[in-house]
Amino acid sequence: NAPIVAVTRNVIMAAARSDRIKRTAEKMPVTRNVVHRFVPGESFDEVLDAGTGLLASGRMISIDHLGEDTTDESAAEATVQAYLRLIGLLGELEVSSLEHPLEVSLKLSALGRALPRHGEKIALENAHRIAVAAAQAGVWVTVDAEDHTTTDATLRIVRELRADFPDLGTVLQSYLHRTEDDCAELSGPGSRIRLCKGAYAEPADVAFQTKADVDDSYLRCLRILMEGSGYPMVASHDPAMIAAAETLSAAAGRRPEEWEHQMLYGIRNGEQLRLAQVGRQVRVYVPFGSQWYGYFMRRLAERPANLTFFLRALVSR
Ligand code: FAD
Repeated sequence: NAPIVAVTRNVIMAAARSDRIKRTAEKMPVTRNVVHRFVPGESFDEVLDAGTGLLASGRMISIDHLGEDTTDESAAEATVQAYLRLIGLLGELEVSSLEHPLEVSLKLSALGRALPRHGEKIALENAHRIAVAAAQAGVWVTVDAEDHTTTDATLRIVRELRADFPDLGTVLQSYLHRTEDDCAELSGPGSRIRLCKGAYAEPADVAFQTKADVDDSYLRCLRILMEGSGYPMVASHDPAMIAAAETLSAAAGRRPEEWEHQMLYGIRNGEQLRLAQVGRQVRVYVPFGSQWYGYFMRRLAERPANLTFFLRALVSR
């Protein structure tokens, strides 16, 4: 049923771009069961509760304040303020003995990159302010990857930020043809790279279209990162990628503290716990906030079975 899955995925990704559907959906309380599975809440209290529970179970966390594609400067500023508050609260948490249990993840489009005037400069300055506060609080920062039209701008901003914050992380997506080269360029000393498959609908001239090709690319990229001198972050729920990370890290002579697994909140919780229990570092990406629509739609598109649960929850209200 690959063609049906592909069509369903395209329909969901089209709905993800519709402002009208977005406005209607975001009015629904986040407590609705299916959204809640992927987004623990809208408030700081709710995300800190979820984060504290994950830390207590031996996992690490990366918190994302939901929002993307900001088109006005005041919204970008509100995002900066939300991150500064979040980092302040994270800095007060009692944390485990793990070396870097706390991280925040940022989308540059939420920090103003798409603003018509000086967007890139504004996003850089905003991300810099967040990185300063995070460094003071002992919190890592990683910059998320958005659609392929933004990759060059994201990597330009990341390179500038890394001059001041060498441990700033960035995300690369194995579905893009360019990513093997980006991995080779960015796998140097101290470099933190989160490798994921990629969650946006991308055209064939820039991205692999089949699962087999995306997976093969992931494995080639992962080998480059494991053999490099940076810090690989293996962001996948796929059992084949998880097993390959184990083999490739061992072949490269890496100790468990020299790389980590990452998974999304609400996905394969049992596997997250199993990996933590066998001594692997596991970080869970935990999104929160009222603008959950785009994030949630990407989770539906990844696994159309989720759509059935979602529709069932809507009709059983
Ligand atoms: P898949 O082959 O898609 O899935 C493997 C298995 O995982 C599935 O069989 C299923 O059991 C489970 N699974 C996967 N997705 C779901 C789901 N939605 N619901 C239920 N089960 C599921 N993408 C970006 O484009 N930019 C980013 O910045 C980004 N950051 C990420 C950060 C983290 C920590 C993670 C884990 C992912 C991130 N992603 C990002 C998403 C990523 O690109 C993939 O879309 C997503 O992780 C699914 O790919 P997969 O490797 O898990 O493999």
